Amino acid sequence: MAGTFNFNVVAPDGQVLNKDVEFVVVPGENGELGILPNHAPLIAGLGIGVIRYTENGKISKVAISGGFMEVVHNKVTVLANTAETAENINVERAQAAKDRAEKRLKERQPDTDLVRAETALKRALARIKAVS
Ligand code: ATP
Repeated sequence: MAGTFNFNVVAPDGQVLNKDVEFVVVPGENGELGILPNHAPLIAGLGIGVIRYTENGKISKVAISGGFMEVVHNKVTVLANTAETAENINVERAQAAKDRAEKRLKERQPDTDLVRAETALKRALARIKAVS
């Protein structure tokens, strides 16, 4: 169909999404990247955040925690460290991960790995945002 391109999201456990879409916005390492049909070839590193894609005019969301995106010949492939569609996100689990990470950051024991806690918090916030 004119005005669409193939959008494929793969995580270590397998394919998460494979759709023909009109528009995708991904969390790049340095801010959001928007992709329309016939985009120039591109490889980009991705951060922790929420992908938004438009299919038949409807916007849907996928939480990801870093990875890479390749854009070539009207095909966009995201290889993500983790990826969950909004329908597959367990909000209670994400909320519990958020609370745990916030507690670790607040209490700051000498052995607390701050970077690990901060990235866990970012993953949890992305999952919560994807379902909102
Ligand atoms: P938790 O502490 O709850 O395990 P986490 O951020 O440490 O969260 P990850 O290591 O990022 O979890 O992910 C491990 C696996 O669990 C991945 O396959 C990921 O897609 C899945 N996953 C993590 N959190 C959720 C969630 N809230 N809902 C659905 N799947 C999740």
